[in-house]
Amino acid sequence: PRESDVHPEHPGMKAARAWLAGAPKRLLIDGEWVAARSGRTIAVLNPATEEELALIAEGDKADVDAAVAAARRALEAPNWKGISPHARTRVLLAIADAIERHKDELSALESLDNGMPSWFSAAALGACVDAFRYYAGWPSKIHGTTNPTDAAQFIYTLREPVGVCGQINPWNVPLLLVALKIAPPLACGNTVVLKPSELASLTSLRIAELAQETGLLPPGVLNIVTGYGPTVGAAMTEHPDIDKVSFTGSTAVGRSILLASAGNFKRVTLELGGKTPNIIFPDADMEKAVLAAVNGFTRNSGQICSAGSRLFVHESIHDEVAQEVSRIAATLKVGSPFEADTKLGPVISARQRERVMGYVDAGNADGANLMTGGCQLGNQGYYIAPTVFSGVKNRMKIAREEIFGPVLSIIPFKDEEDAVFQGNDTPYGLAAGIWTRDIGRAHKMARAIRAGRVWINTFGETDPVMPFGGFKQSGIGREFGIDSVMAYTETKSVHVRF
Ligand code: NAD
Repeated sequence: PRESDVHPEHPGMKAARAWLAGAPKRLLIDGEWVAARSGRTIAVLNPATEEELALIAEGDKADVDAAVAAARRALEAPNWKGISPHARTRVLLAIADAIERHKDELSALESLDNGMPSWFSAAALGACVDAFRYYAGWPSKIHGTTNPTDAAQFIYTLREPVGVCGQINPWNVPLLLVALKIAPPLACGNTVVLKPSELASLTSLRIAELAQETGLLPPGVLNIVTGYGPTVGAAMTEHPDIDKVSFTGSTAVGRSILLASAGNFKRVTLELGGKTPNIIFPDADMEKAVLAAVNGFTRNSGQICSAGSRLFVHESIHDEVAQEVSRIAATLKVGSPFEADTKLGPVISARQRERVMGYVDAGNADGANLMTGGCQLGNQGYYIAPTVFSGVKNRMKIAREEIFGPVLSIIPFKDEEDAVFQGNDTPYGLAAGIWTRDIGRAHKMARAIRAGRVWINTFGETDPVMPFGGFKQSGIGREFGIDSVMAYTETKSVHVRF
């Protein structure tokens, strides 16, 4: 059944459906909505019902070339390059306002497209608006330095836009990631060619429409090319006229992007996968730690790069915590994204469900103790029960590889040193959680864990002020906060001899 028939009460459903009913969704190139040059389209499925939601354009290299040419022209155009920082602030604020005015529609659209519960898409929408407003504050604060020198000179630095930015996104939280890929580069005066994931492009397209409708974005400043990774994504990373690539996605694709972008030495930021250790000491506030551990692996059905997928529990409390985590996980409602008490929607695709179930099989085969879940649910939609394995060894496949599904590995540890060793014994380094009432231990652990973000007595919090990104194979560079401003600008030193 269509979600609109089942859940007409969602305040954004009607508007989302009306938008979906429009013609096949097009590409945004040079300020115009155009079909892919090949004329091809991709069918977008609702992961909760497997119904076809819409057709999006299947772009390819020819479309990327056109978008990059438009972005290059816009970069030098007086109506973008020549405007004041305050004008760029107004552009970003206007986009944020437009998104906020359409918040219910965008939230419904995201839940239809990605399958995330509507409370989660509403939260992502809020984070999206916050990110646009945060970066709207930056343009007038991006500046170089004046530097001390001898009396016959004046020396200073400028921070200038890096150029045409090729932005590639995954499907897991498009509403937040689209803000992160558009707001910082525009705040810094760049132009953008964005490729959303072929599995969840709809909210990025709708936001681009809203951005165009503000009337403040000159043609070519923001371009959207939907399509597949090996065609559109690869054409972007190899493109000689793209100056910087910002990629969020899997570590495997990140590696190919780094190689492909070497041709013209693109600036590259990579936000990749994770296998986050969430560490509970016996002196923690156990009730909070356990709840956060459950949320940490079930939020967005575990499809979060920083999901707390490895729960390290002190050996003295391992069995008891494993019991409690499993008990709560088993009570979580898995179901339609639009029912108020749903905690987990479906995973994104049939392929993703098969991948995740493959890891469940690996956990069973390796002798981990399946406490709850471990199965698909229903016969329509890509639902998986929250799955908990206890007594896991950090060497097992389920503890080493990113699963990107609602599967938790609970691993015992002996002492602080062992927690640090095992927590760090992973190719990833995106985030970590630490639960203890001992403030000294908390800070010592925060330093010892090699990860780009550490949560102490909390888990999963984000703030656009705080840089996010990974150590080791979780990525290169940081996004959010001032780090994005640095990543989207180049420093120029100027020497003037009198
Ligand atoms: P993915 O790597 O399969 O795809 C990401 C994007 O890259 C998609 O738009 C895809 O079309 C494109 N792509 C695929 N092959 C390409 C190629 N050869 N060249 C250029 N582009 C290509 O990832 P996914 O399955 O969409 O998303 C899940 C992954 O994203 C997980 O590994 C997750 O950890 C990661 N992720 C990381 C962060 C972070 O901030 N670190 C945030 C969200 C998701």
